[in-house]
Amino acid sequence: MKKIWTLKKIKRLFQLPLLELLFLSQTIHRKNFSPNTLQISTLLSIKTGSCPEDCKYCPQSARYKTNIKKEKLLELKTVLLEAKKAKLSGSDRFCLGAAWKSPSEKNMPYLEKIIKKIKNMGMETCMTLGSLTNLQAKKLANAGLDFYNHNLDTSPKFYKNIITTRKYEDRLKTLEIVRKNGIKVCSGGIIGLGETMQDRIELLVELSNLSIPPESIPINMLVRTKGTPMENNQTIDPFEFIRVIAVARVILPSSYIRLSAGRKNMNEQTQAMCFMAGANSVFYGCKLLTTKNPDKENDLKLFKKLGLNFKNTKINKESNYFNTIKTNKENNTKKLYYNATI
Ligand code: SF4
Repeated sequence: MKKIWTLKKIKRLFQLPLLELLFLSQTIHRKNFSPNTLQISTLLSIKTGSCPEDCKYCPQSARYKTNIKKEKLLELKTVLLEAKKAKLSGSDRFCLGAAWKSPSEKNMPYLEKIIKKIKNMGMETCMTLGSLTNLQAKKLANAGLDFYNHNLDTSPKFYKNIITTRKYEDRLKTLEIVRKNGIKVCSGGIIGLGETMQDRIELLVELSNLSIPPESIPINMLVRTKGTPMENNQTIDPFEFIRVIAVARVILPSSYIRLSAGRKNMNEQTQAMCFMAGANSVFYGCKLLTTKNPDKENDLKLFKKLGLNFKNTKINKESNYFNTIKTNKENNTKKLYYNATI
């Protein structure tokens, strides 16, 4: 039977001495996962910028003057080439993000085609495209989509301070639609938005009490981007972040917990403590939509030092990785864009 996590119970976990909390989370982690294995995903932005939403942390919102390079929908063959590179680098899941409020009907055949082609390569697929109707979710599910990402970001109460163009209930509704159509759920939050500890607790209450908890939970550390309303937010104490990971592991024992945005700003020791706390998934590749991610070489060095393996491959397949770099340079051709007006 599913354990119900209340505000009070989660608050008690947050108040544990850190080392005690880490011992608890690591113990739970080992019961559910191999402690030395990471699930690796690669994320590609298939349509960048000009988003009609107003998420105050996001450089892709059309409302803020940021330095991101806007891009139209990528051509299918460009997407497939990136997926192939990701697979060669050890990723087992290819995630695709588009800066939309929701996908338009004219783009559905393109999205379905991408899913089918990437599945044929032997990778899992994940998409983050904004809100979905039931019919859209059905189409994506029929094409074979494994995961849909739709983050709750923060607590229901604090949400209106971060986004005004949609409601928390809209997010929950899309998550319900995704689940109903048999697609696995990827949903998490961002730490560093100016939220209180109570907001973090309330976010975790929401995630843990969904009808089925998300299989994948990205925990992001805010990347403060110039031009967004959050560019001057206070930095987060790494221990606070580690604490969130550890509590998430305790209350969501069988979900993959992913270190997502902000990993570039963490030193090796902080990342190691996050893995110790129960994080077992990362985005791998030098870019996360529009923000920077650690270099692949640095990641490989760190994973080697920590003795972490990839879920679908072993770190000692580095030669494969270096071959990929060569191929990438050889294939450094001009990007082609998909014409959505056809
Ligand atoms: S987070 Fe997503 S929905 Fe919000 S502005 Fe950025 S791209 Fe748009």
